[in-house]
Amino acid sequence: MRTSLPLLTSEQLARLPERARNVVEYRKSGLSLNHVQGCPLDCAYCIRHTYGLWDQRVPRALMTDAEAVDELVNHRYFQPHITPVQLFNRATDPFLPAVRPHTFAVLEDLDARGLRNHVLVITRHQMKTEDAVRLNGLRNVKVTLLFTYSGIDNKDIEPYPSTVAAQSLKIMSAAVGRRYRTVLYWRPLVPGLNDSPEHLATAYELSKYADATVFTGLFYRDEIAEYYQVNGLPEPYDETARRKIVPETLEERVLSTFAGSSSLFRKTSCAVSFAHGEPDYNGHYGIPELCDICPLAQLDLCGSRHQVPTARRIQEVARTLPDANGLVVVDITEGAAVVSGLKEEQPRYYLQHALGFQVHDVRHPHRDRRHGRADIGWKEATS
Ligand code: SF4
Repeated sequence: MRTSLPLLTSEQLARLPERARNVVEYRKSGLSLNHVQGCPLDCAYCIRHTYGLWDQRVPRALMTDAEAVDELVNHRYFQPHITPVQLFNRATDPFLPAVRPHTFAVLEDLDARGLRNHVLVITRHQMKTEDAVRLNGLRNVKVTLLFTYSGIDNKDIEPYPSTVAAQSLKIMSAAVGRRYRTVLYWRPLVPGLNDSPEHLATAYELSKYADATVFTGLFYRDEIAEYYQVNGLPEPYDETARRKIVPETLEERVLSTFAGSSSLFRKTSCAVSFAHGEPDYNGHYGIPELCDICPLAQLDLCGSRHQVPTARRIQEVARTLPDANGLVVVDITEGAAVVSGLKEEQPRYYLQHALGFQVHDVRHPHRDRRHGRADIGWKEATS
């Protein structure tokens, strides 16, 4: 397998921040593979700030694609045909010209192994009809292209125009006989920046091209807030949060603009699963407040597969993971298992995907109507 980017030397690798050295990491929507890092697109709110990688503007490879795929499929969290995979979603854009060959190499390698896992590929870059042809050559992996579109026109915050992603979404959705799915990944929605009635109406029109749309807010973490302050950018909020921020009134306005839509979702996994005609792989069905905008047929599909696991079953699955051996099942409801004893979040995501059921950490409770979201901007916030 050919690698077009030069590989980092072992000295350069050793100088990377520790989190950046972990090329496989479990995040909420899937096991994420990131052996290429660096991006010149300069979105001010980029998650690279939190990995100590902001200054890395040129994509670099930490290992070959073959080595990276091996590391992924042999990872303790990887389950063939089950674990959703995310490709280059943390440190680069998968369709930058220098990254594109790596993206296809990984997809084709996974596909050649006969794996039927979901693979989520998030991009804001230009895509072309020849990309559709190549993606259509994949027979096994279930690919979803998620087009990051915000409509933000402040060039200090988002120098690379959202119109490119909009155009890519249209091109890739129009391809005849395509096997992959397309999602309008409408984010980050920020009050006062990209939530005017015109912004919402434009997003609604764009959503008609996609198989599904998901809307979400901004990850406003400490490192990102610091960058905004140092660079004199207008700060969207006066505090930071560990979850994404979607204020209540903004959500209401989105729902009312999309009243005529039957493919709008609050959760990425719901949009991806719907687009492939499958029940939500994150098991959100047990949280009814998330499902009130879902098409009835999809609601039925998720309902028919929804199964509340027993504590014994949860422990059985956890036993396969060394980093889950302190797990305690605190409570099980119709919607989620509440657990304690996990040092970090990754094993919890593994359990969630293995069980197809929500697994929450007792230290981070979800509030009514704010599942997975920060309290900022909600009237009844209690913490
Ligand atoms: S029914 Fe609920 S869990 Fe299933 S896709 Fe719809 S919103 Fe998601």
